[in-house]
Amino acid sequence: MTVSEIISLFEEFAPALYQESYDNSGLQAGNKDDEVTGALITLDVTEEVVDEAVDLGYNLIISHHPLIFKGLKSITANDPTGRIIIKALQKKINILSIHTNADNAGEGVNHYICRKIGLKDTSILCPLEGKLLKLSVFVPEDHAQNLREQIFNAGAGMIGNYDFCSFNTPGTGTFRGNENTNPFSGEKGKINIEKEIKIETILPVHLKNRVIKAMLAAHPYEEVAYDIYPLENRYSRYGLGMTGYLEGEVNQKDFLQVLKRVFKTGCIKHSRLTGKEVKKVAVCGGSGSSLLGNAIASGADVFVSSDFKYHQFFDAENKIVIADIGHFESEQFTKDLFYELLMKNFPKFAVRLSEVNTNPVFYF
Ligand SMILES: [Zn+2]
Repeated sequence: MTVSEIISLFEEFAPALYQESYDNSGLQAGNKDDEVTGALITLDVTEEVVDEAVDLGYNLIISHHPLIFKGLKSITANDPTGRIIIKALQKKINILSIHTNADNAGEGVNHYICRKIGLKDTSILCPLEGKLLKLSVFVPEDHAQNLREQIFNAGAGMIGNYDFCSFNTPGTGTFRGNENTNPFSGEKGKINIEKEIKIETILPVHLKNRVIKAMLAAHPYEEVAYDIYPLENRYSRYGLGMTGYLEGEVNQKDFLQVLKRVFKTGCIKHSRLTGKEVKKVAVCGGSGSSLLGNAIASGADVFVSSDFKYHQFFDAENKIVIADIGHFESEQFTKDLFYELLMKNFPKFAVRLSEVNTNPVFYF
């Protein structure tokens, strides 16, 4: 197994295209062509984690938080990031980070948190915008069925829980090939009139190349007429945060107790309790305070996230209860998420969860 194959697996699960603009997910250091001897999974890359990988004889560290977040002007032993990079390169350790693309993935960080809390009927709190495309392609009637199947199989035509979605309009196509052509119907140099179907469908940007390739392979024409244009529709399968429902209604204090137990957190900072029973819950692993407005608008009773500032607790007013469970605590299951993904796809591969507690925050 090469580093590149591991990257491809994570690309299927959480395409790097769907990371936030400020992020730096992907291979942080190393060589994509390296044969992987084993993978160590961690939230953060620290020197201890690199040592742990060396001791295990593993040459790949998979982290949630990118080691390199801001642009580096130098790599020296005088700062922690520099020391980690130097050590990793000396020991031939590869470092791969899957950050906000894993947060945004429909089956990613927040889905796993919902699972741990026992939330049902989940949906993305803040779906991504600008990630969907419309494809229109013109094809002879007899070939429309096959072409539709091929592009659907490549991932086009998904709307929410529906697949195979398209709109088909019959019409007339015209074309004339020059002396260098070999037209599928008609003769070169003569105008041909053809009964065609215009197939319109939708696809996410990360599947664009795959869908075009499938379309070109299935289309009988040597020059395929098609249009691709961007949409402003929100992509319900990817985005930050998630909402879901508890099995029954739960008292607010009892719910905070559940959070304390599930996330093994030393302390939960919360806004004033509203006294309402908890049924709908919004979650966002990591720093989710910017989604407070979305959480309130979703009608959630509690917003479970971290890194809220003092004044943001006022913004909860009486509309929602903020439960700040700690950044590390809220993302701790990301390690299990990555582990399960690797095990499901490569059952014989050597993977371990790091035993280093990288949480830099302590509770007194
Ligand atoms: Zn984080």
